Amino acid sequence: MAKKKKKKKLRVDRVAFVAIIGIALLFGIYKGASFIGEHIVSLFLSYSQPTVEAKVEKNYRATVVLDPGHGGIDAGANAGKLHEKNISLTTAKAIGEALEKENIKAVYTRTSDEALHEDKVTDLNMRAQMSQTHHAKYFVSIHVNDYDKSNDVTGFEVYTRNKESENLAKAISQQITKLNYSKDRGLQDGSSLAVLKNNTVPSVLVELGYIHGPDYQYLNDNQKLKQMGIAISQGIIELIDE
Ligand SMILES: [Zn+2]
Repeated sequence: MAKKKKKKKLRVDRVAFVAIIGIALLFGIYKGASFIGEHIVSLFLSYSQPTVEAKVEKNYRATVVLDPGHGGIDAGANAGKLHEKNISLTTAKAIGEALEKENIKAVYTRTSDEALHEDKVTDLNMRAQMSQTHHAKYFVSIHVNDYDKSNDVTGFEVYTRNKESENLAKAISQQITKLNYSKDRGLQDGSSLAVLKNNTVPSVLVELGYIHGPDYQYLNDNQKLKQMGIAISQGIIELIDE
């Protein structure tokens, strides 16, 4: 009897041992498999995520082409070291930054001190063409006036491509007026200006002021130009969902 009992006990021990080994093995396999699984998943994610992100375009409300006038060897109007091409670029970038904050995509015709083409006519056509290429809602060109009869002439004016562009011109003018910076010289017919004439969307060209006159002080101050940019952006934002 005692022998038999021992045998039985041994068998029980063996069964328990086998069961423990079995469970341990299963657990090991499970852990191993999940470890490999996680690694495969993380490998997959780390490789696939950037592509996925790159493909997902931000859901912008609209696109606006911003055109800082001149660039490169074409400085535009200038008063000493103050060049129209730099004033226009600083202002356009301020407009763009303010638009992006409102989920409106800003596309620039240039972002550095360079012309788009050495031939002026081609350069202007390339700028206008960008509205179509980028499916823009509006096109806004930024310039500064040089000289008009005398150095005392001051003020900003907004040129329009056509009737359809007038709401945009008015909205921008109203916002610049709020800055209390200079005279509002009113809306002007810009239908013969290449960058407007060759455009395909409502387009305006803003002459921020006269570089040689009393506007000089404002135009020579980058902080003021940023305020100008924000004001112009507010005019655009007002109309974007209409
Ligand atoms: Zn100009």
